Amino acid sequence: MNGTRVLVLNSGSSSVKYQLLDMAEGAGARLASGVVERIGESPEVPDHAAALKRVAGELAAQDLGLDSPALAAVGHRVVHGGTRFTEPTLITDEVVAAIEELVPLAPLHNPANITGIRVARELRPDLPQVAVFDTAFHATIPEAAARYAIDTATADAHGVRRYGFHGTSHAYVSRATAELLGRDVCEVNTIVLHLGNGASASAVRGGVCVDTSMGLTPLEGLVMGTRSGDLDPAVIFHLARVGGLSTDEIDTLLNKRSGLLGLCGDNDMREITRRIGEGDERARLAFDVYIHRLRKYVGAYTAVLGRVDAVAFTAGVGENAAAVREAAMAGLEGLGIEVDAARNAVRGSSARIVSADGSRVAVAVVPTDEELEIATEAYALVGS
Ligand code: AMP
Repeated sequence: MNGTRVLVLNSGSSSVKYQLLDMAEGAGARLASGVVERIGESPEVPDHAAALKRVAGELAAQDLGLDSPALAAVGHRVVHGGTRFTEPTLITDEVVAAIEELVPLAPLHNPANITGIRVARELRPDLPQVAVFDTAFHATIPEAAARYAIDTATADAHGVRRYGFHGTSHAYVSRATAELLGRDVCEVNTIVLHLGNGASASAVRGGVCVDTSMGLTPLEGLVMGTRSGDLDPAVIFHLARVGGLSTDEIDTLLNKRSGLLGLCGDNDMREITRRIGEGDERARLAFDVYIHRLRKYVGAYTAVLGRVDAVAFTAGVGENAAAVREAAMAGLEGLGIEVDAARNAVRGSSARIVSADGSRVAVAVVPTDEELEIATEAYALVGS
């Protein structure tokens, strides 16, 4: 391998995000980043091929073109790796076919990821391309936590189990939290709360994930921007039988019109806290439902781990919304959790501790960096 640069591509259904990182000495310096949005909506970017060509053009304009010998690999974020892909994987035709077989488990995400892979391979067929899976970090979850209590044969026939998502973020943040504490990751038990527009919690014992809140799909678990998270599965039959909704309508309701948006009409936590400040009761209730669920998971994962060293908040809400952190951690002194109000209120862009000095459990804000994690994993694979 000659180059030290890794291009990270995150191909979504209507956008392609990219970052070019230089991994020389493991530093991960960011050379370029950008996003091509509204794929399929404008004549200039009719499809993913056009989007990736635009990415290539933007990089070339900065003298960082895809033809550069400094480029060592392309790292692709792939949402669903099923039970097969538990590690970053060098992409071959066979790997692409296997990711394609997983489309029924992630119908919105995997097709876009595959398109990104196809086009990138056409642009640079000689370059190693690595798939980094959102599910992989959760492959270590024990069977007792991964199994749903339904008929085993039916579950296995259809791949129904807990896979978990946001894995690159949970992996990165659990490691970065240990670093922040100045301890070896093997010694630290962490509850990671990834609170973005999508949200998930994980219980990580000594760097190894032992439970996570998302399941077969990214719908389960915490209250999210537009997703319901946990609910009684019978709600679905009820809406079908009594409400007359079709399967697709219920899918859209629970994924796109629920969560904070469904509860109060807004999915952005900034807007919700602003409305609460004005005395808006629907916004208040949405916030309270969000926090209640979050606290339940903190309690559950405390029991799963037995001993917790740190609770780490990350992603858009977790990193920025002091009010969410404060409310989620309030009154948990019995669990050894004590937030320092002044520290928690300070805004910042680097990893920091916001718990009180005497708090048995450290409460941390740890900005996530999924692109750096993907680049690190891809570079480690092609370099080895
Ligand atoms: P992400 O998916 O990680 O990009 O997070 C996006 C979400 O973070 C947005 O929908 C907002 O709800 C939230 N967010 C971003 N900035 C702030 C902020 N300054 N205060 C509160 N919430 C924020």
